[in-house]
Amino acid sequence: MVKIFIDPGHGGNDPGAVANGLKEKELTLKIAKKIQSLLGEYQNISVKLSRTTDVYLSLSQRADLANKCGADYFISVHINAGGGTGFESYIYNGSVSSATIAYQNVMHQEIMKAISGVKDRGKKRANYAVLRETKMPAILTENLFIDNSSDAGKLKSDAFLDQIAFGHVQGLVKAFGLKKKAASNQKEVYRVQVGAFADRKNAEKLAAELKKKGYPAFITK
Ligand SMILES: [Zn+2]
Repeated sequence: MVKIFIDPGHGGNDPGAVANGLKEKELTLKIAKKIQSLLGEYQNISVKLSRTTDVYLSLSQRADLANKCGADYFISVHINAGGGTGFESYIYNGSVSSATIAYQNVMHQEIMKAISGVKDRGKKRANYAVLRETKMPAILTENLFIDNSSDAGKLKSDAFLDQIAFGHVQGLVKAFGLKKKAASNQKEVYRVQVGAFADRKNAEKLAAELKKKGYPAFITK
């Protein structure tokens, strides 16, 4: 059983970065829940979230929760701010296991693949509390810039948040060799509607992109 711990950044009286009508704490929770839901299709995995509602948790509380449940992997989901564009991922800048580095490599690669067209800011290392205080391999993802109008436009699209979540899941699938449940064991089938377009060409373009990434996509009127 692989135990994945997902930490949606910020929450409660800590909104994280706020710009362009978006709040980091809301985006991180949405993405975390999408990751959890997609992981429901896989066997031999348990998924825990540090928070499932809009509540405040300190950084140490988040790490403690992951340590106490004996998680195999910790993923903290954040949205960047401060001028810039694109995606970057972090692991601890102190001593880390070789697994930590290997998992960052595959997570970063799969997320970039899923959000193609977004600038790759690279694989980085930093002394972040949740990375330092967790005992298992850990990663922190910074998913675009909330204060960049082009990035914010993407983050306003639920379909784009699905792509971010899908990238995280594909990374986990490769890192941990996850296998899908047999079709008969899947409890639920989710039907996903992705946006409405005035221009059929735009709809076809998105449908084609989604299909390429493994989503079943079709166009309705
Ligand atoms: Zn943050």
